[in-house]
Amino acid sequence: MSQELPVDDATRIRREADRQVTDRAALDAILDEALVADVGVVRDGMPLVLPFACARDGDTLLLHGSTGSGLLRIGSGDAVCVSVTHVDGLVFARTTFDSSMRYRSAVVHGTATEVTGPDKAAALTVLSEHLFPGRTAEVREPTVKELAATLVLRVPLDRVSVKVAAGPPEVDPDDHEPRSVWAGIVPLSVVAGEPVPSPDVPVGVEVPESVHRTRARTIDAAVRTPAPDR
Ligand SMILES: Cc1cc2nc3c(=O)[nH]c(=O)nc-3n(C[C@H](O)[C@H](O)[C@H](O)COP(=O)(O)OP(=O)(O)OC[C@H]3O[C@@H](n4cnc5c(N)ncnc54)[C@H](O)[C@@H]3O)c2cc1C
Repeated sequence: MSQELPVDDATRIRREADRQVTDRAALDAILDEALVADVGVVRDGMPLVLPFACARDGDTLLLHGSTGSGLLRIGSGDAVCVSVTHVDGLVFARTTFDSSMRYRSAVVHGTATEVTGPDKAAALTVLSEHLFPGRTAEVREPTVKELAATLVLRVPLDRVSVKVAAGPPEVDPDDHEPRSVWAGIVPLSVVAGEPVPSPDVPVGVEVPESVHRTRARTIDAAVRTPAPDR
C-alpha cells in the first residue's frame, strides 16, 4: 500500500484541516499502540458504536469478539466506521473556550469481512501477540472449540483518515488574557501498573517475559508524550 493515505469526500477532515496527516506511518503508529477500537455500524436503522479489541495486520485492521457478541451481529459484509483515539494531553488555555486536547486519532471507513479457515488461527495469533506480546509461546494453542467460539473480522485500511493535534496551546492574536494566568499542557498516557498474580499462582512462579514486554511497551509509549510538534 502507498505510503501516502488517499483523501476522498468521506475521509477529508474539514475543521482544522491542517491537522489531517496523510503519512501512512502515522496511521500504523496509532493502530499499533491501540488496544481498543470503537466500531460504528447502523443496526435496524439506528447507529450503534461498540468497543472491541483490535490489532493491525498489514494493510488491514483485525477486530476480535465472541461469536455471541455484538460483533457477530455487526455481520460480515456490513459497512463499518472504526475509530481509534489516543488522548496525549489536556490543553489548559487561558480561556475555557480555547481549552482542548492533544490527540492522535484515526477513522477507518470500510466493510468488515469474517476471517475463516486457516487464516483465522493466524489472525488470532496476530491479535494475541499485539495485546500480549510473547504470550502465545508461553501458553497452549487454542482448541477447536475455542476457535469456534471466537469471531474475527477484518477491515481494509484503504479509506482512512488520521488527525493529530500536537504542540503547545494555540495563541489567538486577539487574546488579551493576562500572561500571569498559567497556560500549557498536562500530558496523559496509559501506563501499566505492577502485575497482580492470580490467587491460585503458586509461590515461586515467576512473572513471565510477556508481562515484562507488555509493561515495557506502555512505558515506552508514555515517555513519548507530550506528542511531538508537527
Ligand atoms: C480526543 C478528541 C476530542 C475531540 N473533541 C472535540 C470537541 O470537543 N469538539 C469538536 O468539535 N471536535 C472535537 N474533536 C475533533 C472531532 O473528532 C472532529 O475532527 C471535528 O468535529 C471536525 O470534524 P470535521 O467537520 O472536520 O469532519 P467531518 O465532516 O465530521 O468528518 C469528515 C471525515 O473526516 C474524518 N475525521 C473527522 N474527525 C476525525 C478525527 N478526529 N480523526 C480522524 N479522522 C477524522 C473522518 O474520516 C470523517 O468521515 C475531538 C477529537 C479527538 C480525537
